[in-house]
Parts: sequence; C-alpha cells; structure tokens
Amino acid sequence: MRQYHPVTYEVVKALQAVVGEKYVKTDADTLDKYKLDENLDPTFWRLPEVVVSAGSTEEVAKVMQIANQYGVPVTPRSAGTSVSCGAIPTYHGIVLLLERMNQIREINEEGMYMVVEAGVRTIDIQNLAHEKGLMYAGDPCSSDSCLIGGNLATNAGGNKAVRYGTTRHQVYSVEVVLPNGKVTTLGATLKKCSTGFCLDQLIIGSEGTLGIITKATLKLVPLAPYKLDVLAVFTDLAKATALVPKLVKAGLNPTSVEFMDNNFVRSASDYSDLKLPHYEDGCYDIVSIETFNEDELDDKMEKLSAICEECGATDVLEADDRVWQVRRNCLESTRSLSEVQTSEDLVVPVTKIAACIQALVKESEQYDFRVFCLAHAGDGNLHFQILKCDMSDAEWERQLEEFRHTAYRYVYDLGGRLSGEHGIGMKRVCYMEEYTDPVEMELMKTIKGAMDPNWILNPGKVFNPVEKQ
Ligand SMILES: Cc1cc2nc3c(=O)[nH]c(=O)nc-3n(C[C@H](O)[C@H](O)[C@H](O)COP(=O)(O)OP(=O)(O)OC[C@H]3O[C@@H](n4cnc5c(N)ncnc54)[C@H](O)[C@@H]3O)c2cc1C
Repeated sequence: MRQYHPVTYEVVKALQAVVGEKYVKTDADTLDKYKLDENLDPTFWRLPEVVVSAGSTEEVAKVMQIANQYGVPVTPRSAGTSVSCGAIPTYHGIVLLLERMNQIREINEEGMYMVVEAGVRTIDIQNLAHEKGLMYAGDPCSSDSCLIGGNLATNAGGNKAVRYGTTRHQVYSVEVVLPNGKVTTLGATLKKCSTGFCLDQLIIGSEGTLGIITKATLKLVPLAPYKLDVLAVFTDLAKATALVPKLVKAGLNPTSVEFMDNNFVRSASDYSDLKLPHYEDGCYDIVSIETFNEDELDDKMEKLSAICEECGATDVLEADDRVWQVRRNCLESTRSLSEVQTSEDLVVPVTKIAACIQALVKESEQYDFRVFCLAHAGDGNLHFQILKCDMSDAEWERQLEEFRHTAYRYVYDLGGRLSGEHGIGMKRVCYMEEYTDPVEMELMKTIKGAMDPNWILNPGKVFNPVEKQ
C-alpha cells in the first residue's frame, strides 16, 4: 500500500493561511461526518485528518500545491451522495469541500448555455434554466442534493439520459485545477472542435482522480412544451422488460424509460405512503415523451399505448407526480428494510437489457439475500439493491461475492461494464482490476501517473495507486 505523509500542524497552518482559519476543521465531529458518503458499508469508511472548504479556484490550486509539497492526499467532495465510496478519503489526508463555490456566473439565453461554479446544486441549475424556458438535461435522481461538480466528476446519468445523454453530453467546457495546482479551461463553447485531444472529456467522469473541476459551461436545450408521462403496469417481469427495446426501436425518442420491479414498487410505495395500481403484483415501466407540437405528442402517445398493449401491459395510465415520487424514493425506501445492503450499477447494450434483468433476477433467487431491481432501462443501466436478510456476516459476504462474480461475468459477456453512472469509486476497485482489459488498465494508470506523479489526488479511486518505485 502506498504511504502518504500525515497532516501535521505545519500543513494545517499552511491550509489556514490559504482559506482562512474557520474553513479548516480538525475537530472530531467534523472528521467523523466526512468519513462516509451514501454507501452504508462501514468497512469502507475512512476518517480524514483535516476538512478544508475552498472558496475559489485560486484557493483550490493553492491547496493542491500544499498537498504536493507535503505529500498529503486530497479527496475532493461535493454533496457526498456518491453510492460507490467516491467521496471517502481512502488514504485519509485532506477532504476538500467545494460547496462554497456555489455561484451561477452567467445564463446566456441566446447562446443557450450557463456558466456555473462547481458547488452549485443541480436542481438550482435545472430550475433557473426552466424559468428561462430552457432546460438543463442532466437529471440524476439525487438532483435536489447533489452538486454539479460531483455530477461532472462521475458523469452522472439519470432520468433523461435516453434522449439527452449523460452529464458529459451537457458540457461545453470545464475549468480544472490539475493535481500539480495549475489551472486550465478544457473545451470551448463550440458546436464542433478538432483541435487537439478532447481533454475535457477525459476529466469528466474521472471521479476526481485527474483534476478538480471548479467551474463549467453547460449546454441548455429548448424546453419542449408538450410532455406526457405514462405508467405501463405489467404483472409479468419478462413482458415489462421486453417493452424497452421495442420502444427504443419505434422511433418515439422517449426522454426516459424507467423500470421498477415489484419489490421496489412495494417498498417505495410504502415509504411514500402511496398505493399505486397493482401494488401487490405489478412491475412498472415509466415512459416520458416530449414534443414541440401537440399533434406529434398525440401521435406518439397512440403508438406508445399500442406497443404497451402489444407487449401485454395490464394497465396503461397517465403517470402523475405520485409515480415519480415513488420512483425517486426507491433507494431510500430500502433503508428501513435492512441496514446492511449494497447496490450494483451494471450497464449493458440496450438490446440486451431485457435478457439481462430476467437472467440476473432469476439467478438472484438462488441466494438468501433479497434483490430489488430498477433500471434506467432505456439506456441499458440496471440497479440491483441487495439487502442482507437473516444470515450471518460470513454467509452474506460469501453469497454476495458469488452473485457478483456470476453477474459481472454475464454482463461482460453481453458487452457491458461494471458501472453505468455511479462510478467505480473505492467500492469497485478490485473488480475494476479484475474485469478491465490489462492494456486499458495500464493506459489509465499511465495517464494518472503523468498527470499526478505523486498520486495525491483522490488515490484509491477507480484503481489502487501504483507503488513508489
Ligand atoms: C437517492 C440517490 C439517487 C441517486 N440517483 C442517481 C442517478 O439517478 N444517477 C446518477 O448518476 N447517480 C445517482 N446517484 C449517485 C450520486 O448522486 C451521483 O454520483 C452524483 O453525481 C454525486 O454528486 P455529489 O455532488 O454528491 O458528489 P460526491 O458524492 O461528493 O462526489 C462524487 C465523486 O466525485 C468527486 N468529486 C466531487 N466533486 C468534484 C469536483 N468538483 N471535481 C472533481 N472531482 C469531484 C469525488 O471525489 C467523488 O469521487 C444517486 C444517489 C442517491 C443517494
């Protein structure tokens, strides 16, 4: 394991000189607060030695210079909603908060872009765009709490990715503090560009291992005035999942196609205190369609209803806000059912999503734990929430490992990957090493080593640091 230097009194003093005394915390309560993120497994928790809150790009740059000088690791942190232990300080050191950098610098309606600091909440970006008759299309289910810097670092997906793509597709440029403390802007507000490497896209999705994003210019799109959400209820999981590729192929260009199995329908309905149709035995597909004229919407709705019926839907209803409330509460709803649980974020080609959900749900039935499944089905991304039941810790670990290996092997055979949107974080590092092509892995480590020779920026995420030679 790579060794880092501890945060000494001298380091704390140097950090205080940069950001001010009140933004450097070493008290036990603060350190305890930042030892975890939304992942509930305590075996991953690590205490930082100091928590620093930066107020500007210049301060972030100086913190990185100090970290290099003293050989102390830095973990950038936005809202800490990571479910893959991304915001946990694996090697202790400095947790660097970006939440004070929360200004929307510009909204340009004519050019359809917005310039935001990294600490702006995603929902505030969405709301401001909406007020101006525009849309910011990044839409993770955690949007009311997560920050745009965290979304960019993880290339967050969410509800609108089928039509608009993930966070990386919503970006013109990013301002970045590199691991050596230098500041640069990567990308430009251009429709096309063939000038050198696409370094903005290298930084986006790198989970804070290659640079700290401090500002971004985000694309906005026209807000489609006509929109309808449909809830297709199925009492047969195979039929519910078979709908997805048919919808995609029908040219409806849906904004979202979300799938929930009956375990999630029940738990999220209970949690939300709402009873939706077929609570006892239904699986749900929620499909959103947006258009720019009414006739087109009517036409698409007719086609959508016909496809749902053809696929064997028991009910096809207009989905009101209650349906989305249930969908948004899925993750939270399982927390009261078991304190020990883990989530998977597998992604497969869209044409394989139906087969994949069916096969893995069937496979999971052989184990003693409970598996809840939901999917951003229209982009091939499935989440399994796996809950420990009445079983020993050792048995839980053994069965989980066995299920994971079967599932990962199967997903890779389908052409899929370990994570569609949550990232590798610290949680999936060992599997990343195991399932990634060794040449690709070596290339990633070479890039990391070239940009961060001291391996001080978010070490232990995506892959383990290379030992000092
Ligand atoms: C209820 C719930 C629903 C969710 N739904 C979705 C969903 O639909 N889609 C989805 O993709 N995810 C979802 N997530 C996961 C999570 O919200 C996303 O990964 C989100 O993008 C993380 O943002 P954050 O601000 O919380 O970042 P953090 O958790 O603080 O950080 C995430 C990672 O980014 C790094 N990082 C943070 N800020 C920066 C920065 N400025 N520069 C460089 N690196 C940085 C951190 O080191 C860490 O590795 C959900 C989580 C919860 C709890």
